[in-house]
Amino acid sequence: RQQNTINKMKQNITSLEISIKDLTKRYGKIYALDTVSLDIKAGEFLTLLGPSGSGKTTLLMAIAGFNRPDSGSIKFANQEMILTPPHKREVGMVFQNYALFPHMSVFENIGFPLKLRKAPNDQIKEKVHDALKTVQLSDYADRKIDQLSGGQRQRVALARAFVFGPRILLMDEPLSALDKKLREQMQIELKQLHRKLGVTTVYVTHDQREALTMSDRIAVINEGKIEQLGTPKEIYNSPNSSFVADFIGESSFLQLNRKGNDLYFSSEKIITNKKLNKNKEWAMVIRPERLSIVNKSYRKNSSNIHFSGEISELVFQGETALALVKLMEGNFLSVRLSTKSSDDFDNLKTGNKIQLCMNRKDVIIIPH
Ligand code: ADP
Ligand code: MG
Repeated sequence: RQQNTINKMKQNITSLEISIKDLTKRYGKIYALDTVSLDIKAGEFLTLLGPSGSGKTTLLMAIAGFNRPDSGSIKFANQEMILTPPHKREVGMVFQNYALFPHMSVFENIGFPLKLRKAPNDQIKEKVHDALKTVQLSDYADRKIDQLSGGQRQRVALARAFVFGPRILLMDEPLSALDKKLREQMQIELKQLHRKLGVTTVYVTHDQREALTMSDRIAVINEGKIEQLGTPKEIYNSPNSSFVADFIGESSFLQLNRKGNDLYFSSEKIITNKKLNKNKEWAMVIRPERLSIVNKSYRKNSSNIHFSGEISELVFQGETALALVKLMEGNFLSVRLSTKSSDDFDNLKTGNKIQLCMNRKDVIIIPH
């Protein structure tokens, strides 16, 4: 029955592609959006990820029609929307603070968009019950909003956002108010719901792990510009700037020296690349989990890169541990260690001289 309900909800929804071109929005001297171009596929789950003040909400509100950009274009399936008022764009929205009506019941809250659209009462009843079932709140129709937990409120907000069959779902930090456990559970629930409904979704967060967990693609946004667009794997494995490398995941940076087509760290050749832009400085990005501490029987080999140093800090964090290693050259590297067995962590002490290796395939270089 749950499946039937979802199929019914799904028929309601025709997902659309969104095409954004050269969108600019200024507040005084600040460019909240600076010639942003972005194509979002029909049915895609796309996340806008960036620090506070980077322009995420401004972009989402421009898509919804609640703010008017200074220039540029927003198309839904090839149709220009820039002059279309919000209520005619047929988008569903979910906010961090739920924005539910406190004096109304769960049923009335979810039914509200249908009432606005002057749907007949029996239809409202049916659709609200289907939506309630989809977010697993069937028994809560008559509750008041203040009788619900944070997670339940956010499910009500979500049901209200898709009950009328929107063509696009927009969510602005919808889980930020929830505690960590519930947030992680809701991330999976939202992802599953998206997979079932298939509605084009634009999701805003400043939480990189949340973005990696939920998205088909991530647009990393900084100071009103999209820095990088890609799948979670692409963004994590191949960041194209120090901003992206720093913002997503943990990274250490090593400045490299160029000799001809080769980039070196100290005497270790890191990479040979004929296409390197000779006018740029280059740095290497190192993810802590890509480094290993080698044992005594290890032999250096050409498929790996090697570093020598001393453990300057060792932190047990439960499922993993983190070592801060001071290299001979004076730089510091973070190294993620397993706490699974006694082989790594238990035998290490601050002050130990160690050797590190990492696979050449894991080398990331960025202009710096
Ligand atoms: P984010 O959602 O990524 O935190 P916003 O889109 O809210 O960022 O804001 C982007 C920039 O635009 C910030 O510098 C912010 O201060 C500014 N800004 C946003 N809305 C307004 C407004 N109504 N008036 C003036 N400045 C604004
Ligand atoms: Mg915001």
